[in-house]
Amino acid sequence: MMYTQIFEIINVGIVVLDKELKVNKWNRWMENHSKIPSAQIVGHSIFEFFPQLDTKWFKRSCKSVLAFGNFLFFSQKLHKYIFPFKSEFSNYTEYDNMQQSGTMGPLRGENNQIQYLYIMIQDVTEIAAYEQKLLEMNTRDPLTGVFNRRFMNKRLHEEIERFNRYGRPFSIILQDIDYFKKINDDYGHLCGDLILKEFARLNTERLRSIDFYTRYGGEEFCCILPETRLQSACNLAEHLRLAIEKNIFSFEGIDLNITMSQGAVEMSPVISTVDQLFKCADELLYEAKKTGRNKIAVKQE
Ligand code: GH3
Ligand code: MG
Ligand code: MG
Repeated sequence: MMYTQIFEIINVGIVVLDKELKVNKWNRWMENHSKIPSAQIVGHSIFEFFPQLDTKWFKRSCKSVLAFGNFLFFSQKLHKYIFPFKSEFSNYTEYDNMQQSGTMGPLRGENNQIQYLYIMIQDVTEIAAYEQKLLEMNTRDPLTGVFNRRFMNKRLHEEIERFNRYGRPFSIILQDIDYFKKINDDYGHLCGDLILKEFARLNTERLRSIDFYTRYGGEEFCCILPETRLQSACNLAEHLRLAIEKNIFSFEGIDLNITMSQGAVEMSPVISTVDQLFKCADELLYEAKKTGRNKIAVKQE
């Protein structure tokens, strides 16, 4: 009697299935979140009410519990959820459905024979949302929403490794807005911020989905272009240069134009570290600045 009460009040979902995968028990938590009363579902196949569970992995999992007495863990990272429920946290997280982690295991009768299996479900929506948020804070620049310097370094390390291991080419373009200090001085920091946001958006939307756009300094950005040779990187840089030059940035009724300078480098065997690659691109960027701005400097082999 006491144990039955615990079964009903506990803040996790508990389902008991028989060997034919018919529902034997359905606790109050499951009732509340599914809106299906226990009396309605008990005695019916779980697939009648949740046809989306009729999958190979679910049936294989049940079989492994019933036949061998295994205990299984369902991770939210892998499955997101097992039962499609609305979460009470879904209003203030990005998840429409409750994120769940769960376990499954055998229930034995007298003589120690496996008679049923249980599924235990936990609502981990809030934890998953926090984790997502932390990950984002760790990798994104809050002003422009593009990737930050930390992410850029990690990504460049990975690209260099891919290059060394599999010979996959990649290029980077460093960008620096021309005379940006003057924008701040003449129109204020708020105007500068607005331009940075718009600038990042204009560039991002011109990159492919496999590229990465990162902000590594105040008005300094880096395009990471996997599978890209120098010539294609230069074509892209010119395309971006024109897009920025042509764009009219509006701030409080004032129309402004800006330009940027760029340095483009393709990864090569003489480069072995992120710092070397970056230094090479930075020197080119400096050269573009020195020789007139609003242009692209490329290393002549
Ligand atoms: P150059 O053409 O040589 O690049 O000249 P510049 O004025 O762009 O170069 P400098 O590096 O001297 O100035 C960069 C300016 O960017 C200085 C700083 O006030 C501004 N800046 C850096 N971060 C931000 C930011 O987050 N918001 C705003 N509004 N300005 C920023
Ligand atoms: Mg700068
Ligand atoms: Mg600048």
